Amino acid sequence: MSYLADFDPEIAGLIEKERLRQVNGLELIASENVVSKAVLEAMGSIMTNKYAEGYPGKRYYGGCEYHDMVENIARDRLCTLFGAEHANVQPHSGSQANQAVYFAYLGHKDKIMSQDLAQGGHLSHGSPVNITGKWYTITHYGVDKETEMLDYAAIEEMARKERPKMIVCGASAYSREIDFKAFQEIADSIDAYCMADIAHIAGLCATGQHQTSVGVTNFTTTTTHKTLRGPRGGAIMCNKEYAQDIDRSVFPGMQGGPLMHTITAKAVCFKEALHPAFTDYCRQIVKNSQAMAATLTEAGFDLVSGGTDNHLILLDLTNMGITGLEAENTLGNAGITVNKNTIPRETRSPFVTSGLRIGTPAVTSRGMKEEEMVQIGEWIGRVLKDITDTSTIARVQEEVKALASGFPLYPEIA
Ligand SMILES: *Cc1c(COP(=O)(O)O)cnc(C)c1O
Repeated sequence: MSYLADFDPEIAGLIEKERLRQVNGLELIASENVVSKAVLEAMGSIMTNKYAEGYPGKRYYGGCEYHDMVENIARDRLCTLFGAEHANVQPHSGSQANQAVYFAYLGHKDKIMSQDLAQGGHLSHGSPVNITGKWYTITHYGVDKETEMLDYAAIEEMARKERPKMIVCGASAYSREIDFKAFQEIADSIDAYCMADIAHIAGLCATGQHQTSVGVTNFTTTTTHKTLRGPRGGAIMCNKEYAQDIDRSVFPGMQGGPLMHTITAKAVCFKEALHPAFTDYCRQIVKNSQAMAATLTEAGFDLVSGGTDNHLILLDLTNMGITGLEAENTLGNAGITVNKNTIPRETRSPFVTSGLRIGTPAVTSRGMKEEEMVQIGEWIGRVLKDITDTSTIARVQEEVKALASGFPLYPEIA
């Protein structure tokens, strides 16, 4: 990045500091990943120079012939990856993908039933502080108090009582398998639409490590930057019967010009995800998550729902006598990046919380396996046992740096 260093050394210097932070640290935020050099090159390309409002073959600007080809390739690859009939790759983010689906089929104040943010859901599923919570009528289901898992009988009963026009499933902090077929059946029984938001688990769904919602629920939305390991962005998949409504809702309904450099990078990401090595990667994400879960359980941590089926673990820190905020800050000082998270029986504010969310997608991309997960789990235990023990924190930070810097930052697909 020599041009940047010459013209703007201040920004170039900060990018370099951030690169070193990523290289020397352990990234355990469940929604993050590291992208390949091929994805980075596509994202940083001259494809950013073009306005391409509209869709391939129907643009509102001239000069889009190559952008048409790129967007068609991105759509086709995403359809192949998930076995989808139709894909829209233009949403700027996962939240925008969700809003586009709502906007296509719901009117002001129509009712959405979704998983509570405090119990694993997402802001864009109708949180009161989000536009979706202000514009639509929202009712939330949660997890069962005992099992801390989704209870489909209770969700069905709630759906019959509440009569939402759309049921949303999918979560940001839920470590168990989601039964998409059960959600669609519940929606069908009350004549509602069903949208699955697979933002977190898209890579797992695409490679058979988690059941897929595509072809099962009416709509599937996703981000492209979590387990799919692409550029930051969103996408929507659906059957042909919904294609026109969805496309119109994204553009001109919600967005103007698509981010064509990002769509170009999405195309590259989908090619990587279609490679057999990506299936191995996703399988390893789950193995790593389960190895980490076993180590943390052994170290005395209380896992929400008792374990994990996917890429993440949610710790209930109540028995450790510390808050999520304290755990996040202390592990941060040791070079381990995680995020505080609410737990199902939360008593603290969302800024403090009683929980910690830990995910394996990024460290798995760097090539770490079960052995490293056991090591990292032990470090987490050591640091959180006494968060005032600064010498332990300093020692762990040295060990973290030695481990992390030995693994490449950029994943390679064969
Ligand atoms: C991350 C996430 C999103 C949206 O993400 P953006 O930050 O808007 O790209 C949507 N839904 C779920 C369940 C998520 O976890």
